[in-house]
Amino acid sequence: MGLGSQVRYDAAIIGAGADGLAAAILLARANLDVIVIERAAQPGGRCITIPFSPGFFASPYQDDVPRIPAALVQGLGVAQHGVILADGSADSRILFRRDAIIARARREALTPAPHTVWKKLQAHMQPQAGEGPVWPGIDWADKSIAETGISADAVLAGRAIDPELAGSALALLTAARSDVVGGGLGALGKALASAAEAAGATIRCNAEACEIKLHRRKPQALMISDGSEIETGTILSTLDFKRTFLSLFAWTALPAPLLAAARDWRMQGAGARLLLALRKPPPLDAPLFLPGDADALAAFRRGAIPERPPLLADPVSLRDPTLSPPGGGVITITLGAIPHALFDGGWTYAKREVLAARALTRLEAAAPGVVASLSGLKIIVPPDMEDALGATHGDLDGGLLAPDQMLGFRPGPRSALSGVYLAGSSVQAAPHGACVAGAVAAAAILADRGGASA
Ligand SMILES: Cc1cc2nc3c(=O)[nH]c(=O)nc-3n(C[C@H](O)[C@H](O)[C@H](O)COP(=O)(O)OP(=O)(O)OC[C@H]3O[C@@H](n4cnc5c(N)ncnc54)[C@H](O)[C@@H]3O)c2cc1C
Repeated sequence: MGLGSQVRYDAAIIGAGADGLAAAILLARANLDVIVIERAAQPGGRCITIPFSPGFFASPYQDDVPRIPAALVQGLGVAQHGVILADGSADSRILFRRDAIIARARREALTPAPHTVWKKLQAHMQPQAGEGPVWPGIDWADKSIAETGISADAVLAGRAIDPELAGSALALLTAARSDVVGGGLGALGKALASAAEAAGATIRCNAEACEIKLHRRKPQALMISDGSEIETGTILSTLDFKRTFLSLFAWTALPAPLLAAARDWRMQGAGARLLLALRKPPPLDAPLFLPGDADALAAFRRGAIPERPPLLADPVSLRDPTLSPPGGGVITITLGAIPHALFDGGWTYAKREVLAARALTRLEAAAPGVVASLSGLKIIVPPDMEDALGATHGDLDGGLLAPDQMLGFRPGPRSALSGVYLAGSSVQAAPHGACVAGAVAAAAILADRGGASA
């Protein structure tokens, strides 16, 4: 499609990650003409697997996704498109809670509501007659904190000092993770994309959404960076809250409270990844967590590379041998307390090497033999995540995990602009499972059209 070309769709989705693809499947199955606009060369978002050294593969941003609820796995049809998600162990109390939360989010999405900014969402925290709090609020997070014995300070700073706490209190509420998907997360991204196309959705890659044109505060068209336009009255953004409203609209077009809310939303990337290609099987038989310390947190706060960064080393090839050649192995290292912006300038090659060396020194001390069998490595720092996924400041969790930005304080699927919907990492449903935010947004879109439910 070239410059100036224009096409009409019932709905346009920005971003072909798990959320965007899940929404595309559900909307296309409800007979909507749907297009997914993806900036990258291939669909999948963070659900991709890359060759990072000859013969070695890994998923660059994370190794697993929050568990897709069983009903949704079935509804999306990913199994028919080649993915089997392993059933990892999970605390049934948390799973029960999570399923109730997802069901409620979906019920609410099905009820056409006046288009309000999400400020009203605090109401979610109020108990209904005969029920506990229907959306976990700070009280609930506090209780979980008390039950697990983790200090509030650690939880609030959790992602910065402890990669295992990525999601901090949110992770405590929703902890169930899928096991590694065979073939890496890319297998899941491919299955979702193929299910979306089979359902009739169009996926357009190498196309960056750059502006949502409004007419009387309703979407009229989505402008693409190649100069083409998608004419549509319904747009679902899976970009984070800040990026959606600060980068996709003419500022003068937005209601002032929404603009202020987007401006005040704080993002904070703090994670990096090191992908290690080994000539021998990993000298670890299970993931190994090496915690951070106060020095690491202090370094993070002043924009320096920690001497002893907290890390989680995962010998992913032991669970999924397709990731390495026979006899070799892949370890991924997820690092915490890594600043997006360094106090002394950009993330140069030399600084990346410093971070890699510090991480390897820690790992080698705990699991001797890694360095001797190293045949290649790739390091991914927060600005790389921002560049690749459009995640502001490289923050994969959609916003700093502070009390005023957690849980019910996150936006729901409807925005203050009629016809503009939200999924992606910043919304309430995001931590509760991969694809959940996309499914909830699809349900809201269909309900507002007065049609079938997703
Ligand atoms: C606290 C917390 C913890 C979480 N933990 C995890 C976790 O551990 N693992 C996990 O998978 N999910 C986690 N989530 C959920 C996660 O944030 C997402 O909801 C989910 O992973 C699905 O990803 P996505 O599709 O929303 O985004 P992504 O996979 O990031 O996809 C976004 C896509 O948009 C594309 N894009 C960016 N800008 C543009 C543009 N201008 N035009 C077109 N395309 C564009 C990107 O290229 C990318 O493909 C967590 C959420 C929270 C809130």
